[in-house]
Amino acid sequence: MKLSGKTRVLGIIGSPVGHSLSPAMQNAAIDELGIEYVYVPFPVEPDYLGQAVEGLRRLGVWGFNVTIPHKSTIIPCLDKISPEAELCGAVNTVCREGESLVGYNTDGIGFLASLREDLHYDPSGSSVLLLGAGGAARGAIAALASAGVARIVIANRTRERGQELLEKFRTVFPAVEFILSSLAAPELAGQLHNADLLVNTTSVGMNGTSFEYLPLSELPDTAKVYDMVYVPAETPLLGEAKGRGLTCANGLGMLAGQGVASFKLWTGLEAPRAVMKRKLLEGLER
Ligand code: NAD
Repeated sequence: MKLSGKTRVLGIIGSPVGHSLSPAMQNAAIDELGIEYVYVPFPVEPDYLGQAVEGLRRLGVWGFNVTIPHKSTIIPCLDKISPEAELCGAVNTVCREGESLVGYNTDGIGFLASLREDLHYDPSGSSVLLLGAGGAARGAIAALASAGVARIVIANRTRERGQELLEKFRTVFPAVEFILSSLAAPELAGQLHNADLLVNTTSVGMNGTSFEYLPLSELPDTAKVYDMVYVPAETPLLGEAKGRGLTCANGLGMLAGQGVASFKLWTGLEAPRAVMKRKLLEGLER
């Protein structure tokens, strides 16, 4: 990696960031293209978020990713945010545009790219059952609705949170049928029966945890399953889906996809997706 007085600095802010695979992934892309950028981790405690963002602005940092716990709280620190970020209430990528810091959300783009590449799934006209109603769910819903999905069922632990999200999206995407479900039988069983795609957007699956009630036997034989969790690579949900012979994928492709989209926003260049995905796999195997 060549560093000079002209090197543009990119990075990621979060707390913690030590475990993040983004520096390895983005620097691999920078090396591959031989461009004068460098991507570094910046640990930022929640109490110092405003000061840190001003610091990055004044230091001329070219752009940065935003991860837990700053994805929503960063919004008031920025000059402008994109319509997708507004809809999701979350920013994962910041770009310097003239004197302004502009927030974007590339999680939805990454999710769609992974559905197409890893599951060969075209959402157009299909019916999707989403588990969870947090930040990742909002990004997925915005992306699916923009891609012409016919029906989205949101099954969430807290009904009020699901309802709130549903009402917001109904007004923005009137052509999509939005349905609220609970995570309990028999309501969920009925929704599984009608799903072309099941997506886990919750953190359930990390550390080998599983849903109390999720009868995959109710899914049609042609249904596909996507788990946004990528550690472990095979969550109990994916293990069960595989056992049933269903096509499925974990969230690694989404992580690569959001990184590819961020890279393009910062550099204007097409990122080497295969190189980035390989670097992620290497990082997970360590
Ligand atoms: P969040 O905290 O905003 O939302 C979490 C959601 O999970 C909420 O709806 C909550 O009700 C639900 N939930 C949590 N525990 C549950 C349980 N035991 N049973 C049922 N529901 C439960 O978090 P987020 O930012 O939306 O992230 C969620 C997951 O998605 C995390 O595992 C995160 O790592 C993953 N994610 C992956 C990518 C990727 O690139 N692959 C991108 C974003 C998020």
